Amino acid sequence: MNNDNDKDNSSPERKTLDERNRMTELQRIRHSCAHVMATAILRLWPDAQFAGGPPVENGFYYDVDLEHRITPDDFAKIEEEMKKEIKANHPFERIAVTRDQALKDSQSGRLGALSERPAPSKFKIGNLQDIPDGEEITYYRNGDFLDLCAGPHVMRTGNIGAYKLTSIASAYYKGDERNPQLQRIYGTAFKNKTEMEAYFKMLEEAKKRDHRKIGSEMGLYTIDTEYTGPGLVLWLPKGAAIAEELENLAKETEFEAGYVRVKTPHIAKEKMYLTSGHLPVLYADSMFPPMELKETKDAQVAERYFLKAMNCPHHHRIFAAEPRSYRDLPLRLAEYGACYRYEQSGELFGLMRVRALNMNDAHIYCTPEQFADEFNAVNEMYLKYFKIFGIEKYVMRFSTHDPSKLGQKFVNEPELWKQTEDFVRDVLKKSSINYIEVPNEAAFYGPKIDVQVWSVIGREFTLATNQVDFAVPRRFGLVYRDRDNTEKTPLCIHRAPLGTHERFIGFLIEHYAGNFPLWLAPEQVRVLTISDDEALVKYAKDIVKELRSNMVRADADYTADKINGKILRAEESKVHTMLVVGARDMEAGKVSVRLHGKGNVGAKPKGEVVEEILRAIRERTP
Ligand SMILES: [Zn+2]
Ligand SMILES: [Zn+2]
Repeated sequence: MNNDNDKDNSSPERKTLDERNRMTELQRIRHSCAHVMATAILRLWPDAQFAGGPPVENGFYYDVDLEHRITPDDFAKIEEEMKKEIKANHPFERIAVTRDQALKDSQSGRLGALSERPAPSKFKIGNLQDIPDGEEITYYRNGDFLDLCAGPHVMRTGNIGAYKLTSIASAYYKGDERNPQLQRIYGTAFKNKTEMEAYFKMLEEAKKRDHRKIGSEMGLYTIDTEYTGPGLVLWLPKGAAIAEELENLAKETEFEAGYVRVKTPHIAKEKMYLTSGHLPVLYADSMFPPMELKETKDAQVAERYFLKAMNCPHHHRIFAAEPRSYRDLPLRLAEYGACYRYEQSGELFGLMRVRALNMNDAHIYCTPEQFADEFNAVNEMYLKYFKIFGIEKYVMRFSTHDPSKLGQKFVNEPELWKQTEDFVRDVLKKSSINYIEVPNEAAFYGPKIDVQVWSVIGREFTLATNQVDFAVPRRFGLVYRDRDNTEKTPLCIHRAPLGTHERFIGFLIEHYAGNFPLWLAPEQVRVLTISDDEALVKYAKDIVKELRSNMVRADADYTADKINGKILRAEESKVHTMLVVGARDMEAGKVSVRLHGKGNVGAKPKGEVVEEILRAIRERTP
């Protein structure tokens, strides 16, 4: 988040050569724009000292030390200078130098500057120390501006098609609070004006569709920081209705795909997480502190219990609860499991970052021979869901391991890494799935897939992570008896296609702007009577009764208010289907159907309308 006057102490690690090579054209444009912005700032304030200026999600920043406090009022002036630099169309020239030369140039204040200066380029000296021995040291020059930088850049400043400065935050040099505090100037850049305008339009639309705003207007959820606590969502009846529909969808889909459901408690003993490896260190910061209790009054030691931060260990113990044979596999254990994760209060954000999450979880235990089919079936399930929710753009990021980091960043099982990564790659290649492969970003226990989706207005969300795990089942001693009567450890696939209720509903609110399809709408049908005539009210009540007996969330407005007022109220509450009934409708056994945001679609026989409503819900029509 880069709001004005925000604190931002993230300090992205120095990019590896590999990451630099993978920088997209857009990232190159943005990073090049950071150099152009620095050029412009130096023209206005020649003593500015620059630190680091990487591309970030949606733009770039450059950290600067400067006595003048830059404010948004300065943006136009800086952008005007940037325009000159872009118009000059200077090439970005790459210059390789020795470490001695770089040190000399930093001392003479020449780096991150337009010329030599009385003061040394102090932060560049520090940055120079971060470049490992043996790695080539390079400068990039555009016009007078010379900077210590490993690139890559676009060819010329003129390749920056459109740009805009967006905000200012403060940040410590290298993210360390013992270092000086710098001004972090954020901007963004695009290939052309059209793309930039589309981006800002999307942001504006996203603001209108903000899940916190719509969530509160519609009465979907509340967060009561005083009594329940920050990051703990209270689902109101309308939000709970959506969550239940999602859960029903998952249950039906998983049942059909051969999953079995389990239920597990929200806490477990410390031993559970020591065995899984989440404790004592790996995940400790993300877990709530333990509860201690003595089983008897004079027990010597207290037992430590933790709130579960993930469902897998509980499921592993269910696997271990009975002897398993190869005939029992694949075993697919599913649960909408509640997890609790400690997020710092500054990180909490509406439904998107919370401390209690309800996860569409399942763990599939299988043999290596079954893996490809199981993995493929999980992907198919994703595609099915995308279709139901009208998600047209998605990508699966397949993260693999780096063999040189076995035993440190990745569990030391070279054979299993190779085998499972080959399986996954094979499945992805054979299917029509849209994926990219990202080396060196796998989880410790196995390769993973992050699923990213785009809402209808073009904003990206990370929906869920699938993980292949060949290490933890072994730590729990999970085995099945194979055909040859030996004991083997199963592979485990962790998957959660609908993510968590919290995050997914947050996404859906933006995606639909609160105008949910009939099957998901918190209030599906409202019957509106034209008058409060007794017979008419009875006619309306019977319709509501029939719908409710079919599990349709139907209500009625029998008040004596004018019909236009009733319609307005229903539209404001985003009721999906309004059934307007007057004396003439009643006599003909009809109802007038009105759809939210679409208006009147005409009168039809009552039975037909009920049938259509039930079918649309059953088929989850978008
Ligand atoms: Zn650069
Ligand atoms: Zn899991």
